Amino acid sequence: MRLAIQQLTEEPSCDHNQKKTAEQKKNACKKPTPGATAGGCAFDGAQIVLVPIADAAHIIHGPMTCTGQSYNNRGTRTDKGSFHQYGFTTDLSELDIVFGAEKKLKESVRYVVEKFSPKAVFIYSTCVTAMSGEDIGAVSKEMQEELKVPVIPVDSPGFSGSKNLGNKFAGFSLINHVIGTREPEKIPMFPINLIGEYNIAGELYQVEPLFEELGITLFSKMTGNAGYDEICHAHRSKLSVVICSQALISLARQMKDKYEIPFMEGSFYGMGETRKTLVKIAENLGSDILKKRAEELCDRKEKETYEKLAPYLPILKGKRVLVYTGGVKSWSVLNQLEELGMEVVKSSTRKSTEDDIARILEYFEGNEDGLMPKGDGKTILNLMKQYDAHLLLAGGRNMYNAMKGKVPFVDVNQERHFAFAGYDGTLELARRLVYTLTSPVFEVTTRPAPWEVSFG
Ligand code: SF4
Repeated sequence: MRLAIQQLTEEPSCDHNQKKTAEQKKNACKKPTPGATAGGCAFDGAQIVLVPIADAAHIIHGPMTCTGQSYNNRGTRTDKGSFHQYGFTTDLSELDIVFGAEKKLKESVRYVVEKFSPKAVFIYSTCVTAMSGEDIGAVSKEMQEELKVPVIPVDSPGFSGSKNLGNKFAGFSLINHVIGTREPEKIPMFPINLIGEYNIAGELYQVEPLFEELGITLFSKMTGNAGYDEICHAHRSKLSVVICSQALISLARQMKDKYEIPFMEGSFYGMGETRKTLVKIAENLGSDILKKRAEELCDRKEKETYEKLAPYLPILKGKRVLVYTGGVKSWSVLNQLEELGMEVVKSSTRKSTEDDIARILEYFEGNEDGLMPKGDGKTILNLMKQYDAHLLLAGGRNMYNAMKGKVPFVDVNQERHFAFAGYDGTLELARRLVYTLTSPVFEVTTRPAPWEVSFG
């Protein structure tokens, strides 16, 4: 396990590792600091990646409280099953920790397989079971032989690091225990793996029709709206497309090393990024016809989308936005807002890679004033005032800050209820922005109270 963690933190495909010397690479990924897991531990990160496989059961080997890091609040959508809404746990007690709980784990796996007949079972280790030395690898092997159902161990003790490292643990389990375990019945002409797209609020549904129209098959989705079987044959795809740059690039790189599947990064936030990604996929698949088809599709979709955007664009034009999100969204959403005629005053750089920051800087034409390091609610609201921003675009946790500051707010993080990917997503974002900006509540809440008017 120690070796695995070390390997995952030295991922050579991460941009910050490419520019460093061999010595520097050893310290490449951030070590967790006290309190770092408050934003989601490594176990949570592993669940984020794997729980969308909704025809497989996910058993958490640990205390009941770890189940509170529940996936279900992320709003992944799927039509492959419903196990993403279940919380299976061995619910360890003090006695289990003292005397060992492998027997209890085996009983739990048998129970779940007999009662629910899942396609596969994922077993997650947590802080407690990692410290008490439970061998989930051996249990998985034994149960798989006994029950004739794939049982996959996921070594994911929360204390080992951040959510991001947990994403990599999940990728490690997929490459070592799932991918390549089954051959497909038929291989389509242009099969690709879509990695790091979790179908939050149904974003995959917004881009799937584009692939269908182009004749590209999403052969293996990791893991939004994915069935277990499709991940088993991911090794037969011709290309891997990594959507969230940081999280699963290590998985794409390992698939390249093991199965010689090339990989690329892409984003579907905004019409420009969608075009770039689709054209690049076509280029990587080596088909000029496909590339031409992708360009024509994008031309048509952009025209249609601009027509539908017509009522919203005059309201959005020139409105200033403070963006406080993380990772890949910290730059891709800027382009999406620019397409809607809005101006971003600042964008946060928390959870952003050096590459993400470079792209934010590109948007601000090299002006570092546009970068916003981590800030608390008060800082965000002060900056909103200072820059005379009309709207805060952030994660759900900032909703209450927006309420306190009486400023319009749109949630773009994983808890969001609306999908913002591709062309339909851009239209949806415009709609949500207009609804919040024109909501009558802001006129009421910013109006002086009657007693302030009466008594001056
Ligand atoms: S795995 Fe560890 S850090 Fe994560 S929820 Fe469980 S006890 Fe907390």
